[in-house]
Amino acid sequence: MTKNKKQLKCLFVSSEVVPFAKTGGLADVAGALPAELITLGLDVRVVLPYYRTVHFKLPEDQLTHVTGYNVSLGWRHQYADILYKSTDVPTYFIKNDHYFNRDGLYGYGDDCERFAFFCKVVAELICRIDFVPDIVHCNDWQTGPISLLIKDKYFWDLKYQNIKCVFTIHNMKYQGLFGREVLDFLELNDGYANSDKLEFNGGYSFMKAGLLYADHINTVSPTYMEELKTPTYGCGLDNLLREQLYWKSSGIINGIDTKRYNPKTDPALYYNFDINSLELKEKNKKMFKKQYGLKEDNSMLVSIISRLTDQKGFDLMKHTIFGQWVMDKIMELGIQFVVLGTGDQEYENMFRHFKYLYPDRSLVFLDFNEELAQKIYAASDVFLMPSYFEPCGLGQLMAMRYGAVPIVRQTGGLKDTVIHYNQKTKKGTGFEFVDYAGYWLYKKIEEANNLYHHYPTDFKQIQLNAMSQDFAWEQSAKQYIQMYEMLI
Ligand code: ADP
Repeated sequence: MTKNKKQLKCLFVSSEVVPFAKTGGLADVAGALPAELITLGLDVRVVLPYYRTVHFKLPEDQLTHVTGYNVSLGWRHQYADILYKSTDVPTYFIKNDHYFNRDGLYGYGDDCERFAFFCKVVAELICRIDFVPDIVHCNDWQTGPISLLIKDKYFWDLKYQNIKCVFTIHNMKYQGLFGREVLDFLELNDGYANSDKLEFNGGYSFMKAGLLYADHINTVSPTYMEELKTPTYGCGLDNLLREQLYWKSSGIINGIDTKRYNPKTDPALYYNFDINSLELKEKNKKMFKKQYGLKEDNSMLVSIISRLTDQKGFDLMKHTIFGQWVMDKIMELGIQFVVLGTGDQEYENMFRHFKYLYPDRSLVFLDFNEELAQKIYAASDVFLMPSYFEPCGLGQLMAMRYGAVPIVRQTGGLKDTVIHYNQKTKKGTGFEFVDYAGYWLYKKIEEANNLYHHYPTDFKQIQLNAMSQDFAWEQSAKQYIQMYEMLI
């Protein structure tokens, strides 16, 4: 920012933030983007709920109690304590034990009430603290109604009148669709109950509130925004995005925290390495195989680190080709296989079964373990991300940074970040396929395996190309700043 410009103030609101609470990529973004914006000269503060997991990491006596107030949710009044951490990235924690002192982050029967409470507390926060933002940056459905509250409920307060709201969609599939209680908790009248407002598919949508009331909407990759405007990917809101809201929509690709995720310094690895010492990556693989009991042969190690849900495309492994499961065909190539993930029973059971079928050539960790994830990225030759849809995807970025060659389906952020390798030009950072079919997943693994064994210099070239990509947040953060400046 130039010196004569007023310092731009941003309140960044997210239901999960690294290092306090994480279930997926949203937390990584909320952990890294505000920090980068601060580095680039903005005054940014982050807000998130004070979940039980946050309490363990950051006990109350290490935080400042800034204020506290009641908000009403229809007939019910609930109290919020506002705790504050001023170091690094200044952060507000919304404390209410009834709603947030629980295991996990989401999946409770009263999630509608919990996040309506969160939104109301955040909207009120602006007139309770000494920080009037130029931008309120909301993320995903849990924060959707905040822009509505700012525009329609607080419009009479001068502090709110110049605030612009940005709403970032990290995943359109999760929409916060509930019953009529949405209107009760947010204290909205019947005027909000029609299809021009919050009504959607017979319910009332937090996500739709975010889309309609934000001054600008963005997704975490340009391709995903275009895909959302199609019936295949739009989850029922494609029409709205395509025909009404296109003028205020864009896509900005995510970065990763390249300081934290650096194979040269990452303490989780057996051996640190960089682009000039790829042989040490090989040693990571050897040590990993040894520690976890995989046969120490020269086979290619293929990894998956992911939530195990329909989105991620692992049902392709039980497609049938040539009368066999795709997974069996893949294993016939002689590869070794490691999975780290948690999610739907169906996929957990599928991988348990594959482990049973291939006990000495596969590892299956049905767990969420960040340290192990880093070890696996560093140890594996190939990383699979055959997603049905992918708003941005951080796994493939992480994999490339750690020299694991990504095999991805060409969708969303995967399309925007992975370039298919061309053996003639020696350009490209991985392998891509287009059709959502197990056959193509198999063919791409076969192609990678072929290069790995028969054209090792090409395989190494892909690793080097991938590791040389710049996935740091700086470029993306600059695009966010441009967006903010365009709005104010
Ligand atoms: P999504 O947000 O849809 O889950 P992303 O690829 O955007 O997918 O981000 C997933 C993030 O979570 C990555 O940083 C990945 O390394 C991490 N991750 C996913 N599953 C696990 C797991 N079981 N253990 C540790 N980290 C995981």
